Amino acid sequence: MNFEDIQTVKKLLSVPQKIVIVPHKNPDGDAIGSTLALWHFLNDMGQEATVISPNDYPKFLKWMPGNDRILNFEKENTQARDKIENATLIITLDFNHLGRIGQMQSFLEHSNATFIMIDHHQAPDDYAKVTYSDVHMSSTCEMVYNFIEFLGNTDKITAEIANCIYTGIMTDTGSFKFASTTSRTHRVVADLIDKGANNTAVHHNVYDTNSPGRLHLLGCALKNMVIINDHKTAYITLSQEELDNHQFQKGDTEGFVNYGLTLEGIIFAAIFIENKEEGIIKISLRSVGDFSVNDFARKHFDGGGHDNASGGKSELSLAETTQKFESLLKTYKELRAS
Ligand code: 5GP
Ligand code: MN
Repeated sequence: MNFEDIQTVKKLLSVPQKIVIVPHKNPDGDAIGSTLALWHFLNDMGQEATVISPNDYPKFLKWMPGNDRILNFEKENTQARDKIENATLIITLDFNHLGRIGQMQSFLEHSNATFIMIDHHQAPDDYAKVTYSDVHMSSTCEMVYNFIEFLGNTDKITAEIANCIYTGIMTDTGSFKFASTTSRTHRVVADLIDKGANNTAVHHNVYDTNSPGRLHLLGCALKNMVIINDHKTAYITLSQEELDNHQFQKGDTEGFVNYGLTLEGIIFAAIFIENKEEGIIKISLRSVGDFSVNDFARKHFDGGGHDNASGGKSELSLAETTQKFESLLKTYKELRAS
């Protein structure tokens, strides 16, 4: 954030505001962690802030301090709409265009509030008065730490804030292993631990709270994996029937896509998950190295994200979608094995 933007934010926060903080639809650890961290920070300074999530999110994120104060736009619609209508300041976190918040989009578009965006995705839209966008950042949570630092307030980072920020950095970096993890990321994390983040507890709450159904679903997903060595690609499918057979809960498939990349020689992994209710196949894509799944998702599957982690969707059937995917692979020479 440049000097001018920092001054603008300081001025905005020097007077009482009615603040709404928004993560993207289907929020992940980084989205919930960053919104709750900022919510604690703003409330602690005496501002009136509310986090509104476009929809529900997995149980393994619901232990975070302040979680019970999040409004779900789908379930608490009247209350949430009222908050948006009266907001003077709206802060959007972990997404780059308003199309990422589902039904909430038109309500934010019609708002007269001042907008601040904090995000690490490519090509941010231009809807905010202050846009703090940096694609080199490991996570929006790391940016929230920076944001607090820009305001000269790192001494105000409580254990609650530290735990929320830690969660998002941990989940968005694959537990500190992705290329986006820098020495600065580790310095931020070290400071968070000094300020009360409980790294063991956070890891346990997020990763060691599986249901038997989820582990069995993982078994099914791994069995379904198709490995295409000729194109350095592995993909997984899960049909609605398979989900139903394993008592599927929101969030159960989180992380499954990454298993493809653990195979030697595989640089591109995908998962296709049938969602009968929405009439779509939800797609997650991951890569290692230079092959941009962000470009791939944008071009072919109405999506986007980061160079090495992105998502999209398809309105074809599951079989037609994987057929389309397999034909596309042949057109990318960077995926050709030697
Ligand atoms: P995931 O595969 O874990 O759902 O998402 C990986 C990354 O891609 C995240 O940064 C997420 O925000 C982005 N992403 C996932 N689905 C979509 C989508 O449908 N559209 C866009 N633009 N980005 C997506
Ligand atoms: Mn993120």
